[in-house]
Amino acid sequence: EQEQEQACVYFLPVYAPGHLISMLEVAKGLLQCNSTSSNSLSIHILLAQPDNPDKSSLISSHLQALQAQNLPIHLHPLPFVEPPRQFDSIEDFVTSHIRLYLPHIKAALSASPSPVSGLVVDMFASDVISVANELNIPFYIYFSSTATFLSLILHLSSPQGKRDPIDFSEVEEEICIPGLTPIPSKSMPAPLLDMKSGSYKCFMYHARRYIEAKGILVNSNIHIETNAVEALAQGVTDQLAPGTKFPDTYPVGPVISFGKSNMQGHECLQWLDTQPAKSVLFLCFGSLGAFDMSQVRQIAIGLEQSGHRFLWVLRMPTTEFLRGPVDASLEFLPEGFIERTKERGFVWPSWAPQIDILSHQAIGGFVTHCGWNSILESLWFGVPMIPWPLYAEQHLNAFMLVNEMHVAVKLEADRKNKGFVSAVDLEQAIKLLMDPGSEERSRIRVQVEEMMSACRKAVQRGGVSFVHLQKLAGELGKV
Ligand code: UDP
Repeated sequence: EQEQEQACVYFLPVYAPGHLISMLEVAKGLLQCNSTSSNSLSIHILLAQPDNPDKSSLISSHLQALQAQNLPIHLHPLPFVEPPRQFDSIEDFVTSHIRLYLPHIKAALSASPSPVSGLVVDMFASDVISVANELNIPFYIYFSSTATFLSLILHLSSPQGKRDPIDFSEVEEEICIPGLTPIPSKSMPAPLLDMKSGSYKCFMYHARRYIEAKGILVNSNIHIETNAVEALAQGVTDQLAPGTKFPDTYPVGPVISFGKSNMQGHECLQWLDTQPAKSVLFLCFGSLGAFDMSQVRQIAIGLEQSGHRFLWVLRMPTTEFLRGPVDASLEFLPEGFIERTKERGFVWPSWAPQIDILSHQAIGGFVTHCGWNSILESLWFGVPMIPWPLYAEQHLNAFMLVNEMHVAVKLEADRKNKGFVSAVDLEQAIKLLMDPGSEERSRIRVQVEEMMSACRKAVQRGGVSFVHLQKLAGELGKV
């Protein structure tokens, strides 16, 4: 029997749970769809070190679970590199940190026992292309966010998209990208609002480097983001500098990590078990979302006035850079709130098993901060949403949920006042989504259920995302 040739594919995630865990899923998907091919792949993960111990427990439990699965996935921890001290935005911090790893990345790739057939890096690690080029390794970006956001930064960084620096929060403008619904300036992602900011410049820098890659994987598919995925497939070539070839795009989403929690029997789930089907509104704001006291009180009043059942993950802000919110103390809630709502409400002041919650039959709606992972998880389980964007690209995601995907009701937030939402506006949005007689609820339910089945089909054998991953595996399998 002829011996199989092994192609080594390397991945470089950044050390942030949302990014790293998603990338590991892509690596696993690649192995799965390659399982019938004659060329075998082995996957190698270059692991940066945590810059903050708080982040490491979620990631290390994940890595342990991965290793227990006995897949041909090998972890290569990189030596510790002191995080940068000077940076002008969180994006710049992550980018600069990876840049400091470049010599170690080069050493690790050079030491590979077999030829490296491809390198897939995080969206903030585009600088690694210099190493890939030097070593003649095909280079790919994994963009763990939306095709729309990717199109937006590619457009704004292109010769056609350039404009005099403005602050989008100060102007009424629409950003028109060929093939896409015009994006109102008030829905611009937070890091892109001010063109003079460090965040904006950082995204423009990466977008220009993406164009040099052989391919870009994106966590979406044609059913979730029809226009943007088509625009990317057509190469949006009129936006490029002459002589540049647009990279191939691989919409491989939804990439969802299901193995995240060992939380069967968790209090939240036990409580949900006692609730009627599709009756509970779930509120959760991601790994960093937290509100000040006045906003917390408005949420409490809105929930109480709506009359609906709810499961509220309530966490509190901290001033520490990069730390994320801390567990909440329930004594900050309006007096008597817990007592008055105890028959129909449950407040959980800590990290919650979100995937298990969204998959529970009692859940009927989701107030989300619009992190892309949360949105994909909600679509996967057919849960309609109320978007409450806070940071990163979430305002753009909220716009898409309401205006393109039609799977969410609109919630009014005052972006000029820290995104403040009044109790009355929240109450109204909840009623539109949860009242049994609401027409909007019926319309949105139909849409979200269609999206649910489209997402599930996409990643099955033969589905649109599966086929893209298979094509990539084929390319990478050539040793
Ligand atoms: N998550 C969770 N429990 C929580 C908060 C978040 O399990 O209490 C998970 C959620 O399921 C999702 C991820 O953390 O997979 C958050 O990713 P997302 O992209 O939505 O937002 P981010 O935290 O990156 O802003």
